Amino acid sequence: MKRQPLRNMIQAIFFVITLGLIYMIYTGILMLAHQVCPNAAICFGVEGLKSGNYAFLPAVIAGLVILISTMFTGRYFCSYVCFFGTIQEFKYRLFRKKKRITPKISVLYEQKLNVVKYIVLAFTIISILFFSIRLYQNLCPAMVITTLNQITWQSIVIIIIFTVVAYFSSRFWCRFLCPFGALMNVFQYFGNLFKIKRLKIQRNMEVCIDCHLCDKVCPMNINISEVEIVQDPNCIHCGECITRCPKKNALLENIPK
Ligand code: SF4
Ligand code: SF4
Ligand code: SF4
Repeated sequence: MKRQPLRNMIQAIFFVITLGLIYMIYTGILMLAHQVCPNAAICFGVEGLKSGNYAFLPAVIAGLVILISTMFTGRYFCSYVCFFGTIQEFKYRLFRKKKRITPKISVLYEQKLNVVKYIVLAFTIISILFFSIRLYQNLCPAMVITTLNQITWQSIVIIIIFTVVAYFSSRFWCRFLCPFGALMNVFQYFGNLFKIKRLKIQRNMEVCIDCHLCDKVCPMNINISEVEIVQDPNCIHCGECITRCPKKNALLENIPK
C-alpha cells in the first residue's frame, strides 16, 4: 500500500479509537481525559516529580514512551496517531480540497510564532511546579472535547482555533501552541546532544529540480528545498513532501550517516 493511503488508514483507526475513548468519558466508563491523554506526562508527570504521587500513571507512562521514541524516530505520533493532529489535517483538506498548498508565512514570523508553544510548555510546567495550578487544563483540547457540556470562554477560543483557523492555516495548533509538540522537540534536542541518530527527510541534490513544491505542501511550513537534510524538529514525518515531489527519489526518508 502507498504511504499516504496507509497513513490515512492508520489515522482513521486511531481517530475511531479516540472517539470510542471520548464516548467512554461521556458515559462515565472513564472518568477524565487525563486517564488516556499522553499530555498527562506534562500535567501530571511534573506534579508526580514534585509530590511523588503519580495520578493517571498509565497515561503519564504512555506520554513518556511517545516522547522518548521521538528521539529515535521523530514525531510520527503527530502524523499517524494524534486525534487533534488528524482533526486539523482533515479539516484543512476539506476546506482546501485537493490542492492542499500551505499558505506561506515568512520564515521570520514562523520562527517567532514557533516560540509560543515553548512558552505554553514553560508556563504549564512552572504553574504546576511552583503554584500547584494546572494552568494548561483550561486550554487543553482534550479537556475541551470531553467537557462540551460545560462550555467556557476558554473552550470557545479553542474551538475557534480548531475550526475557523484550520481554514487559513495548516496544523496551526501543532505548529504554534501544542506543549506536547514542544516537549517532543525538546526530547529530539536532547537526542541530538547524545548523538542519537533518527529518521530524517533528505533531499538528493542531484535529482531535485528546485521546483519548491515540497515547501508548498509541507503542513508544518518547513522550507525543505533549502536544505539537504531536514533538521527541523517540527517535521512530523507525514511524508507529504515525498509523495508530492515530482522527481522520484529526490526526497528520501532515512537515518543520515
Ligand atoms: S503537535 Fe500536539 S496536537 Fe499536533 S499532532 Fe502533535 S501532539 Fe497532536
Ligand atoms: S518537490 Fe522534489 S524536486 Fe521539487 S524542490 Fe522539492 S525535492 Fe526538489
Ligand atoms: S518535511 Fe515532509 S515529512 Fe516533514 S512535515 Fe514537512 S511534508 Fe511532512
